Amino acid sequence: MHEARTYKVQLGIASTRLKSAGIDRPAREARHLMQHVCSLSATDLINRETDLMSKAETEAFFDLIERRSLGEPYEYLTGEAWFYGLKFACSPATLIPRPDSEVAVDEALARLPLGRVSKIADLGTGTGCLLIALLKQEPRLTGIGIDLSSAAIDIARRNVDAHSLGDRAHMHAMSWRDWDGWGEADLIISNPPYIRSEIIDTLDESVRAYEPHSALDGGASGLDAYREIIALAARNMKPGAWVVFEIGFDQADQVRLLLETAGFSSISVAVDTGQRDRVVSA
Ligand code: GLN
Repeated sequence: MHEARTYKVQLGIASTRLKSAGIDRPAREARHLMQHVCSLSATDLINRETDLMSKAETEAFFDLIERRSLGEPYEYLTGEAWFYGLKFACSPATLIPRPDSEVAVDEALARLPLGRVSKIADLGTGTGCLLIALLKQEPRLTGIGIDLSSAAIDIARRNVDAHSLGDRAHMHAMSWRDWDGWGEADLIISNPPYIRSEIIDTLDESVRAYEPHSALDGGASGLDAYREIIALAARNMKPGAWVVFEIGFDQADQVRLLLETAGFSSISVAVDTGQRDRVVSA
């Protein structure tokens, strides 16, 4: 068991453990996890480094250090992630928001008529980060997020409240197949599951072992969700409304073809910071 020692000594032990587990920035992560467990600001922690850490704090801290060493994503340990400069609650019921997805927010913003009240729908919303980031940028937007997982919707609602958007954003646990709001939406945004089923097992361990497969598995071709959403959108959306999809880096041609075949126009592809195809808009 871990004995009571000063914060500073425990930090050193934890950093060594994270380092030997191959974590990139061990000292920094150890410090942040300690701040999280002990509810201390960075300055508080510096001021208290030579104080003794309580037994309860020590155990809670080393529990997180151990889980991190075994590969659990940092964001699931703290239950927090940053996206588009905003803090979001996340849990293993949701994907962890990824920087690449910020391109989808930019692409959506570029397509919305300025100064008009527009309705956004985020399909497979997870933490709600896409919808919430959009609404925080543009006060005239309102929106709905839907997700099959009610545990994800609980997290999304927490994020709506944390960002004071209760009057503009509504989250519902349901399938897009049962949703009847297509005709009112000015823009659909979605980061649906798009990984081919057969390669799920080859994903990075930190993703495969911890993130929800329901948010990753796009069926045999990886395109199941796009096929469904595009068919429903083509049938039910009003003329001039937009769809903005996050896609896998090698799916632009296939998703473009699905959109063209369904009668969409003004199709364009945007790249992420690594210059990989990441978002298709139509
Ligand atoms: N970008 C995610 C990954 O690479 C996949 C997200 C998704 O399927 N929507 O793990």
